Amino acid sequence: MLEKKFVDQEFTRWSGDIPVSYLYTSGVAGEQFFTGLKNKGKIMATRCTKCRIVYLPPRLFCERCLKKLDSWAPVPKKGTITTYTIAYQDYQGQPLAEPVILALISFKGVHGGLIHKIDEILPEEVKVGATVVPVFEDKNKRQGRVLDIKYFKPS
Ligand SMILES: [Zn+2]
Repeated sequence: MLEKKFVDQEFTRWSGDIPVSYLYTSGVAGEQFFTGLKNKGKIMATRCTKCRIVYLPPRLFCERCLKKLDSWAPVPKKGTITTYTIAYQDYQGQPLAEPVILALISFKGVHGGLIHKIDEILPEEVKVGATVVPVFEDKNKRQGRVLDIKYFKPS
């Protein structure tokens, strides 16, 4: 019993699954952000009127001056691909029918950005610096979540 074992099959053990559920609330800023997507079809950010910094994802407090942020503004419609990756497998390592392009999208005058899918372009044509615009779900299908933006496409 005191000798070290390095292969997990050598241990006496039970096998099984533990069901886990969780609830992660979006918070006050997140709720306004998701409401903006659902009801207005707009990507909303918070703005510090003192530092003139616009935050995306929205924050409740300015990171620079710690002022409470209650000023909201839509981000510009056009974003820029800051970096991207192309996924050929899903989370389980299974091959995808089509590669998925995932990008960090930044917006002029906005601190931060969004990570989202890029579509309506071939993977080999994606470039850092390319401008993209969001494609929203039809309004009656939106649920107040980031996937209310179906993807971004070249503008
Ligand atoms: Zn500030």
